[in-house]
Amino acid sequence: MSHPKALSAPVHPGGTIGILGGGQLGRMLAMAAARLGLKVHVFSDEDDVPAFQVCHHRTVERYNDIAALQDFARHCDVVTFEFENVPAAAIAALAPLVPTYPNARALAVTQDRLHEKTFVREQGIATAPFANVTSEAGAVAALKETGTPSILKTRRFGYDGKGQAKVTSAEEAKAALARFDAPCLMEGFVPFSFEASVVAARGLDGSFAAYDPPENFHADHILRRSTVPGRLTKAQSEDAKAIAKKLMEALDYVGVMATELFVARDGSLLVNELAPRVHNSGHWTIEACAVSQFEQHIRAVAGWPLGNPARHSDAVMENIIGAEAEDWLAYARRAGGLHLYGKAEARAGRKMGHFTSLSPRTG
Ligand code: AMP
Repeated sequence: MSHPKALSAPVHPGGTIGILGGGQLGRMLAMAAARLGLKVHVFSDEDDVPAFQVCHHRTVERYNDIAALQDFARHCDVVTFEFENVPAAAIAALAPLVPTYPNARALAVTQDRLHEKTFVREQGIATAPFANVTSEAGAVAALKETGTPSILKTRRFGYDGKGQAKVTSAEEAKAALARFDAPCLMEGFVPFSFEASVVAARGLDGSFAAYDPPENFHADHILRRSTVPGRLTKAQSEDAKAIAKKLMEALDYVGVMATELFVARDGSLLVNELAPRVHNSGHWTIEACAVSQFEQHIRAVAGWPLGNPARHSDAVMENIIGAEAEDWLAYARRAGGLHLYGKAEARAGRKMGHFTSLSPRTG
């Protein structure tokens, strides 16, 4: 691969940030960029996506269309992405032409659960026990290693619980593997006390800024609510931020990354998953911080100084999922920040918006 192009000076106001992906994360990134006087060019393979409603320029082409990507690169001062399943080939095509952040390695490591967990463990950071699974016999052997119950997960393309199955016997492990029909990972079930995450940014100059880690509550594998402060102690919060910093430095990361954590019953922290992008558990920063995770990501990839991640309020962020969006008027009557993503169809399980309530800062 040719050498990736680096950003040599901050993108000037009026410049263009390219974003691969046009979902709600891209939409909120575009809105934050606009606040800083930057334009956004969104590249998506679908023509009716939330970010298109708020961006300056759009391209609708497939992510493996190299000519379209090269043309996109010519219109952008820097390129980033809002979802982690961007094909590696797309970044390989863009990176020599236009500075692209986060870098290709960060994307490759976080796209594959096996690479991701191996990387985290290599940094001396705890994860659930895990084992690679390539065959039925391998699934049975892995289950012996990771214990019962375990979770069989596809190595790639899993989100919101898709491509995951809890297994309690060799039979179930074999059946789940046959159903997924893809390379998998067996992961020991962690009887966690609760979940948390660190949303943090690393600048082009190596500067680091982490938001206070929220406690996250999931239902049916989908994030329902993030609460900050949550049940993390001050010491756990600091440890969590230090974990994120170490991982981001090891990846030479530029941009915002989320580190999802399990808080074990003994109080120890285990890394569950890394997301090389802005994250649902950081949406509360729009209302509770002077500089949101979206602005922070734009600042980082544009080579600007990072903003102050300090929180001026306590916050609870609730997702608005599927048919709940029909209650938009009731949400609009509540005190707090309502965000609707402009999606026409409220399919079950689809994230349609979110609502953040604030209260005076306590801890
Ligand atoms: P993931 O896609 O890996 O983030 O998993 C989605 C959700 O499933 C997590 O947020 C947890 O609530 C649950 N989960 C995933 N892996 C495990 C595990 N090893 N032990 C316990 N719960 C898990």
